[in-house]
Amino acid sequence: MKQLFANYQWNSTLFNCQSNDLKQFEKYLSAQVTRLNLQAKPLGFIDNNHQQYPLSLYQSANIHSDKPSILVCAGFHGEESAGPWGLISALTLLEPSVLENVNLSILPLVNPSGFSIGNRLNLFQQNPNRGFVYQSGQVASNQHTSVEGLLLQQSMATLLGASEHGILTCHEDVLLHDTYLYALESHALPSPLSYQLRDSLGRYFPIAADGEIDDCPVKDGIIFNHFDSSFESALFQSGSQIAICTETPGQQDFDQRVLANRDAITLFINHFVNENRQ
Ligand SMILES: [Zn+2]
Repeated sequence: MKQLFANYQWNSTLFNCQSNDLKQFEKYLSAQVTRLNLQAKPLGFIDNNHQQYPLSLYQSANIHSDKPSILVCAGFHGEESAGPWGLISALTLLEPSVLENVNLSILPLVNPSGFSIGNRLNLFQQNPNRGFVYQSGQVASNQHTSVEGLLLQQSMATLLGASEHGILTCHEDVLLHDTYLYALESHALPSPLSYQLRDSLGRYFPIAADGEIDDCPVKDGIIFNHFDSSFESALFQSGSQIAICTETPGQQDFDQRVLANRDAITLFINHFVNENRQ
């Protein structure tokens, strides 16, 4: 099958491997899952006749309705690899006691087949972040829904519960030198959390100038309440209180992008932990 998008790979000094090294990624993830006592919830497999990739959700133990429930996702697009590695970095810094104050769920790598070659799409050339259609109070598939998307939609009730108070999804824009984010919120203006996340990314990269990115109006580095058939859009429309999609710039140094994702994820988690403590 002819590829529609280029493959992107970078060397990581932080992890001492290539950005698309799936074996190393799984090794690092497994160590953090064990250390933090995260519970694996297998969602299914992405497979053709030659290869098989598992897709799993991980959740903190002792899920309790008194605590905020948040979902952190990465790796929907395989070339946007600083997201998944940034999540590993954030988990590495996370004190296990933090999980006493938040129900943390993670989808660390939604598109492992794309990640393994540094390609945006999966092994069927599908875009895993399209085809989540919110209609009549439900999330339905359409002709653009990927194999990963169908697996996520089969577990929608679990994912909705997991993201009740917020979802952060870590993307990258491989063509840009600047950073920005998408925020979906039930207010007229972005909340302080959205600006704090933007500023966190802005410590590493220039914030995108006002104008348009992918036909969406960006102001102060934020694309606000843009609805499409993405996973985060469907979760927000289904009741998640806030959905943020960060975009680190693929034209910048890889390790800096990992650290920017690490800081954004840490800030997002701590926001809900601090809210719960108050
Ligand atoms: Zn993306």
